Amino acid sequence: MENFAFYNPVKILFGKGQIANIAAEIPANAKILITYGGGSIKSNGVYEQVKAALTGRNFLEFGGIEANPHLETLMRAVELIRAEGIDFLLAVGGGSVVDGTKFIAAAVPFEGDPWDILAKQALVKSAVPFGAVLTLPATGSEMNTNSVVTKAATQEKLFFASPLVFPKFSVLDPETTYSLPLRQVSNGIVDAYTHVMEQYLTYPANAPLQDRMAESILQTLIEEGPKTLADLHDYQARANVMWCATMALNGLIGVGVPQDWSTHMIGHELTALHGIDHAQTLAIVLPNMLSVQRDRKRQKLLQYADRVWGLSDGTEDARIDQAIQKTREFFEAVGVRTKLSDYGVGLDVIPLITDRFKQRGFIALGEHQDVTPKVVEQVLTLCA
Ligand code: NAP
Ligand code: FE
Repeated sequence: MENFAFYNPVKILFGKGQIANIAAEIPANAKILITYGGGSIKSNGVYEQVKAALTGRNFLEFGGIEANPHLETLMRAVELIRAEGIDFLLAVGGGSVVDGTKFIAAAVPFEGDPWDILAKQALVKSAVPFGAVLTLPATGSEMNTNSVVTKAATQEKLFFASPLVFPKFSVLDPETTYSLPLRQVSNGIVDAYTHVMEQYLTYPANAPLQDRMAESILQTLIEEGPKTLADLHDYQARANVMWCATMALNGLIGVGVPQDWSTHMIGHELTALHGIDHAQTLAIVLPNMLSVQRDRKRQKLLQYADRVWGLSDGTEDARIDQAIQKTREFFEAVGVRTKLSDYGVGLDVIPLITDRFKQRGFIALGEHQDVTPKVVEQVLTLCA
């Protein structure tokens, strides 16, 4: 196991009715800005619950944060916060609202052009404190330091991370997810599954506890995910998937082990260029990444085949093929298509993506830093 430091200060308020308890988590005299997306919180009752919980408190609101949040929109919130002297943010929505709020929080006190936080990985030295009410289990953003933001003007989707943008608290009420369109329920399962795979499916690192935690999240998603699609009000299934998504990317399973993330990096480009949902891009790329990297990932692929899918018969290569096929079938079974052509995208996207990686100076991605633009091309060719 590699050395590591683990720190995660996010207080989780999990379960039915927990939105009612947020006022106690926010400093009494804070001037609050509620940030939200395109309006789902106003039609599913979440906004009313938040407003009721903040009765007597001083708050303003900023809506309109889009999926794959745009820098341009977030900067309008930054101006509002600076003008109004807001000192606490409350993100209410999915990963895009939480990610967007993290960027806003870091951008408000930032000296210089906040785009540098993403484009130049400029150091975040302070941030406005914030909490979250999560309505879409998928990203883990509610309990991590990551944020992904898109500059619409140039179609660039970039990320930053800082311990200063851990939420102070996050509410996870599974009932808030009942109103999700099926597509987003499906997306959430695939995003969480892929987060685990990016941290697990690399090479053995003498970390059996991390391996077994990762495998247990994968197996729970395989068991509980389909239940959330079969019965839209199955509270226990929603609760289990929601907790899986948080545990998949709150840092715990990734300590002391190598990490990949090349599927996410390629996926971000597909979203930036073609607007394909984040999880859809992962469902397209991950099985083919595993296929192309099968020699480098051989030992973990065999472990994954055995422990997650119960595949212990046949040659090594046959087991690996089946495990990759099972992964693809699982994504399809929960409703996420796995080919570029399913989304009307052709092979002409490949040079665009590899050129972008070269321009940004990404020589190679992955746990071995060997996913070169050439390998990306191979993977995307299989995705067609
Ligand atoms: P999202 O983009 O936040 O939301 C997708 C859609 O779902 C929106 O249209 C939203 O509508 C709707 N929605 C959310 N909650 C709803 C509810 N309870 N009922 C009905 N509709 C609801 O989706 P996401 O998958 O959570 O976030 C994706 C973003 O996160 C991407 O930009 C991705 O790159 C990023 N990401 C971040 C991390 C991280 O670690 N921070 C990890 C992976 C991915 P409204 O706008 O109307 O609310
Ligand atoms: Fe993701």
